[in-house]
Amino acid sequence: MSVQHYFDTMEYGLAPEADKEVRAWLKTHADGFGHFIGGQWHSPHSGHYFEALEPGSGKKLGKIAQGSQEDVDLAVAAAKAALGPWQKLGGHGRARHLYALARMVQRHSRLFAVLESLDNGKPIREARDIDVPLVARHFYHHAGWAQIQESEFPDHSPIGVVGQIIPWNFPLLMLAWKIAPALAFGNTVVLKPAEFTPLTALLFAELAQKTGLPDGVLNIVTGDGATGALLVEHPDIDKIAFTGSTEVGRMLRERTAGTGKSLTLELGGKSPFIVFDDADLDGAIEGVVDAIWFNQGQVCCAGSRLLLQEGISERFIAKLKRRMETLRIGDPLDKTIDIGAIIAPVQLERIKKLVEKGVLEGAELYQPSGNLPASGSFYPPTLLTNVFASSTVAVEEIFGPVLVSMTFRTPDEAVMLANNSRYGLAASVWSETIGLALDIAPKLKAGVVWINATNLFDASVGFGGYRESGFGREGGKEGAYAYLKPTAWAKRKPRKPLPELPQAIEKKGGFEFPEIDRTAKLFIGGKQIRPDGNYVRPVLSPKGEVLGEVGEGNRKDIRNAVAAARSAEGWGKVTAHNRAQILYYWAENLSARSDDFAQTIAKMTGDSKTIARKEVQTSIRRLFTYAAWADKYEGIVHTPPLRGVALAMKEPLGIAGIICPNEAPLLGLISLVAPLVAMGNAVVVVPSEWHPLSATDLTQVLETSDIPAGVINIVTGESRALGKVLAEHDDVDAVWAFGSVELSAEVERFSIGNLKRTLVDQGLETDWYDPKAAEGPVFLSHAVEIKNIWIPYGE
Ligand code: NDP
Repeated sequence: MSVQHYFDTMEYGLAPEADKEVRAWLKTHADGFGHFIGGQWHSPHSGHYFEALEPGSGKKLGKIAQGSQEDVDLAVAAAKAALGPWQKLGGHGRARHLYALARMVQRHSRLFAVLESLDNGKPIREARDIDVPLVARHFYHHAGWAQIQESEFPDHSPIGVVGQIIPWNFPLLMLAWKIAPALAFGNTVVLKPAEFTPLTALLFAELAQKTGLPDGVLNIVTGDGATGALLVEHPDIDKIAFTGSTEVGRMLRERTAGTGKSLTLELGGKSPFIVFDDADLDGAIEGVVDAIWFNQGQVCCAGSRLLLQEGISERFIAKLKRRMETLRIGDPLDKTIDIGAIIAPVQLERIKKLVEKGVLEGAELYQPSGNLPASGSFYPPTLLTNVFASSTVAVEEIFGPVLVSMTFRTPDEAVMLANNSRYGLAASVWSETIGLALDIAPKLKAGVVWINATNLFDASVGFGGYRESGFGREGGKEGAYAYLKPTAWAKRKPRKPLPELPQAIEKKGGFEFPEIDRTAKLFIGGKQIRPDGNYVRPVLSPKGEVLGEVGEGNRKDIRNAVAAARSAEGWGKVTAHNRAQILYYWAENLSARSDDFAQTIAKMTGDSKTIARKEVQTSIRRLFTYAAWADKYEGIVHTPPLRGVALAMKEPLGIAGIICPNEAPLLGLISLVAPLVAMGNAVVVVPSEWHPLSATDLTQVLETSDIPAGVINIVTGESRALGKVLAEHDDVDAVWAFGSVELSAEVERFSIGNLKRTLVDQGLETDWYDPKAAEGPVFLSHAVEIKNIWIPYGE
């Protein structure tokens, strides 16, 4: 063989990573792995095991315990028992344990990397250089949060026992993303790894125990989806943190509705990879390789939709095809390969079927030449061109090494195409014009945007989606709140049952002048509008006197109000200074009419004039608070370990529905509307069902306060009925509901259509006069989405 030959072929031999240590470790568990519960290994109560297989070869790796009800009960009880002592240990004590875990991961990094590669089929290069270092970094970073928890989160407490369910694509990294923040902030954990990839979690548990992690703080129960479901249903679980498919995420939202369990969901994606014609094309080509062929494309944030500006499209595709020819597919333990094995035959089948469907729908298929390994689950890197925005392959998450490509002409068209998805996890923008890239990033509906980069992750930077990609963030300060609850909210007590509605007192006829009839209308798109159904409902005093009538809003009124709110979306783009000015002006106009409002409140609620006046004054103060926050609830500049920054931007959610509580009819409404409006959202408000007149009177104040039409819409009527309509409406991005237990449950349950964000009180009464419980960042944090824009820099 001549030197010339090597230059011509650029061929090189195999470089297999040794697996001796991992095989030896597996052998020590040849009788089967148990569950790790309360610091001990437990055989499965049912006696059932399943096999863990090597995707690269199909060979058996070990016998894994199938978790049953008894196993889950035992694990949850262990986590519950450990909760008190773990919290008592304090931030510094927990920081030491997390630090020890970080060190442990580093010491055993090769063992973890090889095991991960064997169990999952990912290239050893990726497990070794990406997954495992990020795992260690996650524990170090969160050791830091534990250390400074008391000073940084003084008004927050841990949530409790957390059930965590993770997928197979990044088994160890997802474990770290889940357990590091949970443990750091004083929660205890029961984690269920994916059925396909439980091994690194079990190795982690074994080694964590050796670091002296207290018994019961971390419990691992293996099993399939049924085991996950048992965890979700368990009454002693306070929170579920899930990563996986949108389909299962939606099911978990439904199952946890009304239980009071908090929930974070990190779900699927169909992320756009946008290349403008002034991009560094060679850089962008390497970007595509990382975006879609990293981990065989089995990445929730994979850049699977390539959007090319027309002028460069042909050139780019030609270059890309050349690059695809050089990608090496093979044994995951070979250090020279780029693409490893697909997780399992079932996933391989799914990929094949979707690609076939794409071709049937008209896509042109390109796959590089070269053979796939003879055994195991492998699929070649694949490019589908001639794809339409509505094609199945452009819409569905394929979760494999398949890229679809489309073209655009203008930046606006790029944004439109990029956002044409029910998902919103990530996006990449490639342009050498920083002004263009930074103009596009905020317009993309995605929780993470990479500029001239892709698939960058760090423990200090929040990760998570918009829309049906789920809710909650993992990592960074924003991720901390997924494992903490406001202490003031934890003290809330159940609302007292409502008294019976009084009987309306019939008006007696007489010859004196009758009061001029005043029936309050709905307030939609800046106009007073009669309710669609032309029905009214009386508003009674506690004694039953009829104080007035308001419209009985229905589904159509909500639909019109949502349309009006959507057309007022520009509110999210006006300056924060401007929004603050308008909130101040609202407060000023309310103040001018404070006596009228106090009188109405007193009449409706039967409260004394003093209390009613206090409610109005507190409402004015609350508007001032949110006017103050409007330009101060700012983002963070994260500094991950790279040359660059990640800007954690706080963006409005869009349209929020609000169901106000019966108590504090003015203050309750303002406490819920003002934070959302201050952050740039448009709202559809259902005021207090019993005492709606302060809301309808408010329309006159709103009309004179320069609030643009459609930003605040008011639909009076029955809370639960209208709450359901709002929760089901797919053009509503969030619903906040304060009232009965049933209302909370229904709003959560009916929100699954577009997985809208919900904030409900589970029937617990908020003290609207207590600023700790009723105003400030605890509400503001629910009024925004956090988008992290990564901006690497340098030559
Ligand atoms: P799933 O959403 O089904 O699984 C994720 C985790 O949830 C696993 O641990 C799974 O258990 C568990 N689970 C499954 N059903 C339930 C249930 N009813 N209650 C509680 N837990 C449950 O994803 P899959 O692994 O089956 O993959 C299917 C598709 O999901 C992929 O093709 C891909 O499109 C997408 N996916 C997206 C991921 C992401 O990060 N966004 C990650 C993984 C998959 P087990 O697997 O052990 O049965």
